[in-house]
Amino acid sequence: MQRHWLVTLQNLAATGRQWDTDVSGVLLQDQETGSVRALVDLASDVHWQAELERVGDVYRLCGQWQGLIRRRCSRCNADFDWQAEGQSAWEFQLGDEPQHAESESVCEYVAPPGEINLLDLLREDIWLAWKADVICSDSCQGLCQGCGVDLNRETCQCAQDKSDHPFAALRDLKLGD
Ligand SMILES: [Zn+2]
Ligand SMILES: [Zn+2]
Repeated sequence: MQRHWLVTLQNLAATGRQWDTDVSGVLLQDQETGSVRALVDLASDVHWQAELERVGDVYRLCGQWQGLIRRRCSRCNADFDWQAEGQSAWEFQLGDEPQHAESESVCEYVAPPGEINLLDLLREDIWLAWKADVICSDSCQGLCQGCGVDLNRETCQCAQDKSDHPFAALRDLKLGD
């Protein structure tokens, strides 16, 4: 475990803590590290800007992250580096969870002195942002339903047949006159 990413809430300075850093993609994908499932297919380090502050009894972590994740386009099946980004928003309190905690409470309760692992938090944030379907570009043409060619790179025969069709119909009309 890299001590670097462990924070003890009870020891937090009055000014809080700020991070503006690149978190190693190798570390985020290391299954031996942390307790949240290791990430997969990262294509870069993850840039993370975050701030941890104490407000009354609540420790609040807010931030945002960006990174590249190797994904497959759900339209054209090509591998590409998906530009992933998202927010981090966590709240912690020291001690046991109250018996009758409000169900919508987002606060996590941790036993004093309140050790939290930033790598695990970031992993959870990135898993949450994981979308089932991602596309390589808004203008991705995808694969032809007919012949399966990648329409971003090739013009397929069935597409040409379709565009020819209206003219063929016109010719038929003229012949009919
Ligand atoms: Zn695509
Ligand atoms: Zn086709």
